[in-house]
Formats: sequence, C-alpha cells, structure tokens
Amino acid sequence: MKKIGVLTSGGDSPGMNAAVRAVVRKGIFHNLEVFGVYQGYAGLMEGNIKKLELGSVGDIIHRGGTILYTARSEEFKTEEGQQKAIDQLNKFGIEGLVVIGGDGSYRGAEKLTQKGFPCIGLPGTIDNDIAGTDYTIGFDTALNTVVEAIDKIRDTATSHERTFIIEVMGRHAGDIALLSGLAGGAETILIPELEHDLSDVMDKLKSGIKRGKKHSIIVLAEGVGKADDLAQRLKTQYDLETRITVLGHIQRGGTPSCFDRVLASRLGAHAVQLLMDGDAGKAVGLVKQEVVARDFHDVLQHSNTVDNTLYTLSQELSI
Ligand code: ADP
Repeated sequence: MKKIGVLTSGGDSPGMNAAVRAVVRKGIFHNLEVFGVYQGYAGLMEGNIKKLELGSVGDIIHRGGTILYTARSEEFKTEEGQQKAIDQLNKFGIEGLVVIGGDGSYRGAEKLTQKGFPCIGLPGTIDNDIAGTDYTIGFDTALNTVVEAIDKIRDTATSHERTFIIEVMGRHAGDIALLSGLAGGAETILIPELEHDLSDVMDKLKSGIKRGKKHSIIVLAEGVGKADDLAQRLKTQYDLETRITVLGHIQRGGTPSCFDRVLASRLGAHAVQLLMDGDAGKAVGLVKQEVVARDFHDVLQHSNTVDNTLYTLSQELSI
C-alpha cells in the first residue's frame, strides 16, 4: 500500500484532530502518501481530497473539532453514492481509507470494504456508544466539560437551595449522564437504558430535603426526555420548582483532554498499521487498556451496554 486517505464523519468530537494527525504522521513515517478527504462521505463522493504533509497536521493536536470538517450524506447510503466514492478514491490512487466517526460512519466504511475498498474505523464520538472499545475519542473531554458545568451549577444550586435539572447529550447511550453524574455528585441520574419512575425521583429528593440537604442535582440524558418536560411534571405533580440547564453543543467542543489525545494517537497509528498489514474491514478500539481491532460486522451487531455497577454505585453514594 502506497497511498491512504483519512476522513471524519458524522458528529464531531474533541480528539478527532489528534487522530487525523496520528494517521498522517504514522503513514508518512512509513513512507506512505496520505490524503485528507474533506467533509466526510459527501466530500469523498465529490473528490474533495487533498494530499496532506507532515506540516498539514502541525499545531492541531490540541484543537477540538476537525480540520477535515465533517458532514452527513444521504446519497452515500445508496449503491450509486458508494460507487462514486470508490471511483474518486481510485482516481487519486488511494488504496485504503481510515474513517473516524460513529456507528453510522462505520456502516459506510463496512459497505466500502464489502465492495472491495479496504477501510478501517476509529471511534470518534462523544457518546461512548460504540461496541468494541471501552472509550470513544472525545468522550473523556465531553465528560470533563459536563462535570465542570455541574460544579458551577452546584455553587448556585447550594446558594439558592434549589433543585437543578441538567440535560446532557446521549440519545441512546447514558454514558455521559452516568459518568458525569457520578463525578459531579448528582442526586439523580436518568439514562435511556433504564426505566425511571417519577415517584422514585421525588422520594429521593424528599428524603434529601428531610435530612437538611440544601439543593439537588438531577442529570438527565436527552434520550430520556426534555428537561423542560421533566420540570413541568415535577411542578404539576409534586409542586416542586426546579431550574433547568441544557448543555447542548458545548459538550462537543473544546480542547481535547490528555486522555483523548493519547487514545486518538494510539488508535490512529494502529489503523495505519492494519492497512499496511492488509488487515482491513475492522474497527479499532481500546479494551482493558489494550489497542484491539474487531470486524465492523461484529462491532455493529452489538450495542455498547451501560455499566450497571456504576449506576448502582451512583445510587449508593447519593443517598
Ligand atoms: P455517526 O457516524 O456519528 O454515527 P451518522 O449516523 O450520521 O453519524 O453517519 C454518518 C454518515 O455515515 C451518514 O451521513 C452516511 O453518509 C453514512 N452512513 C450511515 N449509515 C450508513 C449505512 N447504513 N450505509 C452507508 N452509509 C451510511
């Protein structure tokens, strides 16, 4: 293999740049030519591709977002779209592709591999919702952003003796809510993987108030419902006043943490190694601190399950 490409796709996450840098530098170290594909699969179909040099990825390891931009493309989901993409890759003489993104992006990479074009996937998403890796690139940074926000809200919650609902990202996966809630000392954590009863939430708040607790923090994953709706229900059913904060896209941005940079560097370099070894069609991940690679098919069949022991722990520690 002489020429490889790299793209970022789907939702951006902090650390994607560090991963792009690792792919480019590892490739050049091994005398490969490395091409950046801009705007994900949409840019790939249009041939928005440029050769990257060592300096092209200088000064980006600490920057959030992605210098390659990212996009979503419906057309790429079609056979014609995928063929267009392969035609462009062939035009540039590119023989292997590293795709950094979430499970949607993995599905695209799997399709290209099935059509004979070797791809490797890297888990770039803040949600930590990909099987085959204990951590996705960007998750740790997002957690730190959320915990910082919880700490700040706690100050005002204590001063005013209020209950706050903090809505965090996670449509299908509660990892951000669970870990940030545990680290932020939240009284209640609501995640999409588990059923919740409003009366249980209320009982918890009441018992806290009874023993003199001045404030309460509820961390709510967006997949459970809107903070506004929960606030309304607590008001109408229990006459409980709450304040809400929806963190939104602030969770996607910012300087990647040390953990995410190291993770991105390790996984990015391994992706290039797999392409050089002719071992494509795989998603790279970190399992029990070891860099591993599993078939796309295998990874996409499983969903990342929530750690019940951590949920139980959060319950035990927030009585
Ligand atoms: P993420 O990768 O963060 O999960 P998306 O689910 O939006 O984000 O996927 C990113 C892109 O991957 C989509 O816009 C589409 O172009 C491509 N993609 C998603 N699912 C498929 C699929 N089943 N087949 C081919 N391409 C797909």
